[in-house]
Amino acid sequence: MELVMMELFLLIVVVSIVVNQKGTSSLFNYQDVEVVSVASAYIGYLALAVLSHVHIRGLFPFSPAIARLVTILHIVSIPLLIFVWMNSIEKRLLSKRSYSLFSWVQGALLVLFSVASFVDLMLNRLYVFSWEQMIRGGWGIPLMLGLSTFFVFVELGTALVKWKLIEWHERAIMVLTALFLLFSLILFETFRQPYMLSLSSAFMLLLSFLSWQRKELLLDWLTRIPNNQAFQGALKHAIDSNSHKTILLLDIENFRLLNERYGEDGGDAILSSFADFLKTTYEQAGVFRIGGNRFVLMFPLLTHNELVREVNIIKEKTAKGCSIGEMQVSFHVNIAIVEIPLQKNTVDEVLDSLSFTMTEVKEKRRQPVIIFNQKLTGVRQRRLDILSILRKALMEQDMIQVYFQPIMDVDDNKPVAAEALMRLQDERMGIISPGEFIPLAEQAGLISMYTEIMLQKVCAFLIEHPSIQERLSHVSINIVAEDLAVGDIACKLLDILSQKGIDAKKIGFEVTESMVLSSNPIVAKSWQALQDMGVRFFLDDFGTGYANLESLVNLPFDVVKIDRSVVSNTTNSYELLSLIAGMLQRLGKEVIAEGVETLEQLEMVKSNRISYVQGYHFSRPLPPGEFLSWLEASSAD
Ligand code: C2E
Ligand code: CA
Ligand code: CA
Repeated sequence: MELVMMELFLLIVVVSIVVNQKGTSSLFNYQDVEVVSVASAYIGYLALAVLSHVHIRGLFPFSPAIARLVTILHIVSIPLLIFVWMNSIEKRLLSKRSYSLFSWVQGALLVLFSVASFVDLMLNRLYVFSWEQMIRGGWGIPLMLGLSTFFVFVELGTALVKWKLIEWHERAIMVLTALFLLFSLILFETFRQPYMLSLSSAFMLLLSFLSWQRKELLLDWLTRIPNNQAFQGALKHAIDSNSHKTILLLDIENFRLLNERYGEDGGDAILSSFADFLKTTYEQAGVFRIGGNRFVLMFPLLTHNELVREVNIIKEKTAKGCSIGEMQVSFHVNIAIVEIPLQKNTVDEVLDSLSFTMTEVKEKRRQPVIIFNQKLTGVRQRRLDILSILRKALMEQDMIQVYFQPIMDVDDNKPVAAEALMRLQDERMGIISPGEFIPLAEQAGLISMYTEIMLQKVCAFLIEHPSIQERLSHVSINIVAEDLAVGDIACKLLDILSQKGIDAKKIGFEVTESMVLSSNPIVAKSWQALQDMGVRFFLDDFGTGYANLESLVNLPFDVVKIDRSVVSNTTNSYELLSLIAGMLQRLGKEVIAEGVETLEQLEMVKSNRISYVQGYHFSRPLPPGEFLSWLEASSAD
């Protein structure tokens, strides 16, 4: 009686869990399907157990034929339950091929056993029944126990072979399940009482639910793919087992704009559809959504060709776009690639390398794919070192040095102005060039502080050497858009000038086209305020950007500096230089040719009626002392 009550109770518990599971999440999620199939097998087993025990305990005697059928169904349901359960675990651990091989073998044995059992209803060889329709002997029960034990051992073996791939809580469940089932089978054989089997199955099933519940926590709520926490777990696991992997970080560009344009629902639809694409295309790889617009794919180490193929598939897909409702929305993804193991091979190093590579990719738009591997760890380390030097130098400003390069009048080869160029001096790394540290300072949000220090240093130099103020019309300093983007910046810069007692006309700011095109109203305001006080503006690097002629005509530039790449372009005997010089003259601009290295270039510049030049032909940028001596010498000629 109490056995039947217990089984009935368990039946109710499991049925309610399954119903609850159906209610809370999409039933056809791959993990839920496993849960539901194991639970259904268990429900089937329990229902048959109840029926057969109702009969055996004499609570409700069946007719002999039905009693035998129910008993045999009950016996067959035991290995069936164990098979479904163990099989669901093997499915998660084994490769497709070995899984299907194992399933076939086990499935075939199970079918053979079931068919033999049912046929035996007529033959009575496997199961020998007593006159009360109880099993008295035969090979049926030992066979059932043997088969069940075999299924348990296959699972246990699989778990041990794949030990490293399994998380600790899953290991515990797999081993415990196997041990509990074996223990129950032994007890059943000894006492012929199925208490343990029903109870331990219920207990283990509950534990499995808890483990699956844990998995639910690792799923992204929107796209139903594993989330950042899951990625970090997988990454840690890959690192601990020293696996070789290729990791792709995908970043949907300007996702904020997509969200604004199509609304949040539209944005969500794009994310879901992209996640679906990744999930179905890369079934074998790990697919994760690690943040708003960022996804990760984790492959076994790919060859170069394989990698190019995957990148192309993704680019093609995103160019084609995802459909939201009737619309087809295409977008751009930036892809950063990291190959592990790296040098230190810690989770932090891999995550840092991913974001480092992503920044690189976004910067170097023309280079579509950057692969970060051990070879690049040096480059990244240098960046990190420079970043810390940049921070340190703000405290120890002697590390920041100003070099000066003269700007010459081509008529008499005399210096008329100079450009101030920054250098960083570090004990260990020596002199670091601005081409390397300026972009980093911009990224780190330090650039404005550096510009201020440059201005102070240049002013101090001019004060210390008043003769220079007489000999040179101005000294120019390079600035970036961000420098002028803070509300009170113009006042601050003008303050520095007046504190030092420098005439604003003696200072020039060199700006690039991208800054001119910035639509920030504060930039325009600061610019105007500085210009009103007499500060001059120069358009730098002309000929490299998008050459917005309108900005050239409309904006109040006194002087345009033609970029070195134009000056050194010899195609059609310096045709580009002639074209640009001619156009600038027609617009009435003064012109400085940059990067003049040879006499031939100087002659070309002159023949194009450009008045000023700057370049190695006359002088490299020099530290202050050498610059002073150079000036002395040049005025002595
Ligand atoms: P830029 O403003 O175009 O400066 C001219 C660069 O060309 C300087 O490189 C200079 O040394 C180099 N150069 C001059 N004449 C020749 C030549 O004949 N041949 C060759 N091959 N090169 C020549 P540098 O000093 O390495 O500076 C690189 C860039 O870093 C500058 O390009 C500028 O954009 C930036 N920069 C330098 N100092 C500062 C600064 O204080 N603030 C900011 N924001 N940027 C700076
Ligand atoms: Ca410049
Ligand atoms: Ca330049």
